[in-house]
Amino acid sequence: MKYFSLNKQSQHVNFKEATILGQAPDKGLYFPERIPIHAPDFIGQLISLSKEEIAFRVMEPFVGDVIPADELYRIVSETVNFQFPLKFIHAGIASLELYHGPTFAFKDVGARFMSRCLSYFSKNQSNKITILVATSGDTGGAVANGFLGVEGIDVIILYPSGKVSPVQELQLTTCGENITALEIDGSFDDCQAMVKAAFADDDINNEMQLSSANSINVARWLSQQIYYFLAHQQWEEKTAPVIAVPSGNFGNLCAGIMAYKTGLPVQHFIAACNVNDAVPDYLQTGIFKSKLTTPTISNAMDVGNPSNFVRILELMNHEYTAFNSLVSGYTISDETTIQTIREVYQKNNYLLDPHGAVAYAALQQYQQNHNNAAGYILETADPIKFPDSINTAIGVAPKIPLAAMELFTKEKRSIPMLNEYASFKDYLLSR
Ligand SMILES: *Cc1c(COP(=O)(O)O)cnc(C)c1O
Repeated sequence: MKYFSLNKQSQHVNFKEATILGQAPDKGLYFPERIPIHAPDFIGQLISLSKEEIAFRVMEPFVGDVIPADELYRIVSETVNFQFPLKFIHAGIASLELYHGPTFAFKDVGARFMSRCLSYFSKNQSNKITILVATSGDTGGAVANGFLGVEGIDVIILYPSGKVSPVQELQLTTCGENITALEIDGSFDDCQAMVKAAFADDDINNEMQLSSANSINVARWLSQQIYYFLAHQQWEEKTAPVIAVPSGNFGNLCAGIMAYKTGLPVQHFIAACNVNDAVPDYLQTGIFKSKLTTPTISNAMDVGNPSNFVRILELMNHEYTAFNSLVSGYTISDETTIQTIREVYQKNNYLLDPHGAVAYAALQQYQQNHNNAAGYILETADPIKFPDSINTAIGVAPKIPLAAMELFTKEKRSIPMLNEYASFKDYLLSR
């Protein structure tokens, strides 16, 4: 499989090169030259396949021959070595729990796959790879966990000071070793802009081999298709599901649409956003306008200018009508998010986190106008990551499991930095 840049100026590259580069030299996002279609019986066979086999079948066409089959099988097995249960909250809405990995959020899947691919690719490389990653909360921890101790790879995480939850902050600031956290006096979009500026900076590119671990990286983006297939394996309804995806940078939804294009049965997608709703606005008006970020309680979705939007346009052949008939956008306020957590807890005895609650509220609104079409939400993080919101909603904070308690005994180590590209550049060049 070859990948081209959506800016159309750079050369086509294979999966290995696309993963190492992160972003194309012309600043575009990589996109596969063609969309592989699964054999017609693959979907019917899901029920009899193991998680590992499903993950392997999903990723193999995208990876191509740059990783031998036995290595790829090992990589995907390590990627999916936790549970992905689809639990019915009530008859019409199920929750695909994606938070049973080491950092309690769905980003573990993409980060584990990507780190293992890069580790395989860097084996015979002489120069170090420096991964720059901007995080709105969960990417940082997942990437830190995925890359900790991996030889030949340094990770630098930029996160918005004061805008991530305590567990999120500890997960990305307590690793040490090859992981460094920069605490930026700004928003997630500021962090993302600084990372993008570094990728575009020749002074830096001449000094170091940069890569990215955000969902702009194909290894992270595409491996997120796996759990849509794992969900389908557990989906027993007669009709294809409506899938509600809590969205920020839109890597997750973009992976879902890719899975659909390769043959996964899906009735409809819901782009569930908090007030940072540039994409729902686009779906209403046909005009895309990025926004300034507004902080919310579903902080991992506080993205005003989502990177993967251009990829979704490409997947939809830039046809607004097609996009609109496959995807509906919803904007959910913090107030509705809290109310949803409370109601679902009281009525159904199920605890949603703020991100899952945004998806739940959006799916509920959709169902009211669509004959209660059955579907599932992607529950992207464990409620324990957001004790304050849970406390507001139900009057008690969730019990922190032992694995997370250990974090609170560790010391936060971050490098505070102004929201200024020059400071970041100086820091990179002085390392
Ligand atoms: C990152 C994140 C999202 C948003 O995912 P995107 O792929 O950026 O749209 C949603 N929920 C949680 C918990 C996250 O960490």
